[in-house]
Amino acid sequence: MEEYSGVWVFIEVNDEKKIEGVSLELLGAGRDLADKLNVPLAGVLVGDEIRSLANHVIYAGADVVYLVDHPVLSHYRTEAYMQAVILLAEKYKPEIFLYGATPNGKDLASAIATDLSTGLTADTTMLDVDLDKRLLEASRPAFGGNIMATILCKKHRPQMATVRPKVMKALGVDKNRFGQIIEEEFELREEEMRTKVLDVVKNVTKKANLADAHVIVAGGKGLGDLQGFQLIHDLAEIIGASVGGTRDVIEVGWLPHELQIGQTGETVTPKIYFAIGISGAIQHVVGMKNSEMIIAINKDPAAPIFDVATYGIVGDAHEVIPKLIHQFNQMSKEKGGDLSYV
Ligand code: FAD
Repeated sequence: MEEYSGVWVFIEVNDEKKIEGVSLELLGAGRDLADKLNVPLAGVLVGDEIRSLANHVIYAGADVVYLVDHPVLSHYRTEAYMQAVILLAEKYKPEIFLYGATPNGKDLASAIATDLSTGLTADTTMLDVDLDKRLLEASRPAFGGNIMATILCKKHRPQMATVRPKVMKALGVDKNRFGQIIEEEFELREEEMRTKVLDVVKNVTKKANLADAHVIVAGGKGLGDLQGFQLIHDLAEIIGASVGGTRDVIEVGWLPHELQIGQTGETVTPKIYFAIGISGAIQHVVGMKNSEMIIAINKDPAAPIFDVATYGIVGDAHEVIPKLIHQFNQMSKEKGGDLSYV
C-alpha cells in the first residue's frame, strides 16, 4: 500500500478534441486532495493527437500529465483506453484516481477497478481525505437519497471514484503554472481490437441545453396537470430559459425523461433556477442546489424547497406565474424585447 502515492484525474477528451468540463472540475477537487496529502496532482491524458492539450491540463491545476498518444485511441473504446490507463496505473501507482461520472468515465472506471481489483465509489458528490489513514472519503446519496453515505476503500489501491459533472469547482486557467509531461510508449494494433468505431452520430437532445442553461424554469406536480404545466413553458419562453422538471412530472408524462433534474436526472448549476410547484425532496435538491440563485414558488410555506431558496414566493403558481409573465412582458417592451439582462 505504501508504494501508492499521488492523486490522479482521468482527463476526458471529446470528439472535437476538447477537454470535458468535468475533468477540469476534477482537477479543482483533486488539487485540494493532493495539497492536503502533500502529493502531486496528475492528469491522465489518453487519445490520438492530444499532446497539445497537456499544457492546458497543467494550467488547470495538475503538476504532472501522464500522456498516451496513439492512433488506436482516436475514439473512446473500453478495451483500448483501459489498456493505456492500466499501463500507467501499474507503473506509477496512484493512491487516488478520479473520473467524471459521464457515460465514458463510468464505463472506463468500472473496467479499470475490476482489472486492478480495487474499489470504486460511483456518482460521488463530495470528496475529502482522512489524513491520518490517507483514506479517500467519497460521499454520495444512498438509500433513495435519505442519507449521505461516505464510502472508504481501506484495503486496495488506487482508491477510485466517479464524480458527477457540475458538482466540483474548476480552478480556472493559470498560464503561469508549470508541470511535467511524461509521455509513455504504448503498443496496440488496430487488428487486435474487438470493436471498431464506424461512425460518430451526435444525439442532439434538449438535455445538453439543460446542463449548459443559464436560466432554468423547473416545474413540479404542484402545477396540477399537463395544461397547468404549460405555464412553465410560457414563463421559460419569455425569459429565454430552459425547461426542466421533477421525477414525478416526468413519470406522468408532462416532460420527456431527459429534462428530469435530480439524483437520477441531470445536475444543473444555472445562474437562476425557478423551482415552481416543487416540494424540494432531497433527490431533486441534490441536482439543483448549487444554482447561483434559486427562486421557489410554492403554496405551502413549510415546503422544504424554501430551505435552499434564495427568494421564496408563497402562493399559488397559477396566480403567481401569470403575474410574473405580465411583469416580464412589461420589462421586455421597455427594453425593446431584450430580456438578456435577466
Ligand atoms: P410533490 O412532492 O408532490 O410536490 C408538489 C409541491 O407543489 C408541494 O410542495 C405543494 O405544496 C406544491 N403545490 C401544490 N399545488 C401548488 C400550487 N397550485 N402552486 C404552488 N405550489 C403548489 N425526484 C426528482 O425530482 N429528481 C430525481 O432525480 C429523483 N430521483 C429519485 C430517486 C429515488 C431513488 C427516489 C426514491 C426518488 C427520486 N425522486 C426524484 C422523487 C422525489 O423523492 C420526489 O418524489 C419528487 O421530487 C417530488 O416531485 P414534486 O416536487 O414535483 O412533487
